[in-house]
Amino acid sequence: MNQQARHRPLPSLSARHEDPHSYPAGVAYLDGQFVPVSQAKVSVLDYGFLHSDATYDTVHVWEGRFFRLDLHIERFFGGLERLHMSIPFDREGVRQILHDCVALSGHRAAYVEMLCTRGASPTFSRDPRDAVNRFMAFSIPLGSIANAEQMQRGLHLVISDRVRIPPASVDPAVKNYHWLDLVGGLYDAYDRGGETALLLDFNGNVAEGPGFNVFAVKDGRLATPATGVLAGITRRTVFDLCTETSLFCEARTVSVPELRSADEVFITSTAGGIMPVTIIDGAPVGTGKVGPITMQLKDLYWDKHRDPLWTSPVHYP
Ligand SMILES: *Cc1c(COP(=O)(O)O)cnc(C)c1O
Repeated sequence: MNQQARHRPLPSLSARHEDPHSYPAGVAYLDGQFVPVSQAKVSVLDYGFLHSDATYDTVHVWEGRFFRLDLHIERFFGGLERLHMSIPFDREGVRQILHDCVALSGHRAAYVEMLCTRGASPTFSRDPRDAVNRFMAFSIPLGSIANAEQMQRGLHLVISDRVRIPPASVDPAVKNYHWLDLVGGLYDAYDRGGETALLLDFNGNVAEGPGFNVFAVKDGRLATPATGVLAGITRRTVFDLCTETSLFCEARTVSVPELRSADEVFITSTAGGIMPVTIIDGAPVGTGKVGPITMQLKDLYWDKHRDPLWTSPVHYP
């Protein structure tokens, strides 16, 4: 160390931290309080951040109503159990917190996330059992994977060479933040002029993309990968809508040639619902236009957002 460095005064601990980021407007819950999203901060020592040791779920609110909230809460509690995490709330407690985040934010269309990190341990112990798990939640304005233009003309999908993290390594039933394969896939897609990416499984069959499941339609029959994917609630909703409309839909192995030669392809996510794909690796899917089954299911999906059986109202102050 040179003289100059040794005598350099220590920088002062700043009492007021200037945040260089801006945030969408919203309300978060953590440590027993509701705060603006801009104030909802996590410790750098939280293993949710350091090791991606966390689980989460995302539900949406549309026209002031939660869509299939019970299913999301159930999946979240399943993830907690599989990861040996516990939170000081039961399902009803979590439902209340999510409701209050949305009601306080005033959002009529919201992206609502509940999450639990492993947390930090007072001694920075490497034993995950020593960490104090942390539950958080937030509501921000609803976003979509596909923008309005992409919903009209369909997304341009690129099939990445990356293998989706195998289910033998990380249980895909636990919704998680192990996203480096998915984010890498997005950059692969951008490099090749695409808009989003699809990853394959260990056997080279279709798996899923960054936060979405995928469906192929051929001769009026639907198929989606059975294994190695998160069982999306929107995916499940497509099955339910197919039952109602007598469309044949099955979960099974979907090969890449099958996807490329499908009549229609669409992706599903809480962030956007049912979204058409009309180009795969630069080649048109079917006619290259958004297909009739995709449109029918998409319209039905949004109609269901008014059905009291599948939705629950937010009570705004
Ligand atoms: C959340 C997610 C999906 C989509 O699930 P939905 O419940 O429909 O939003 C698909 N794949 C992955 C990896 C996800 O994280």
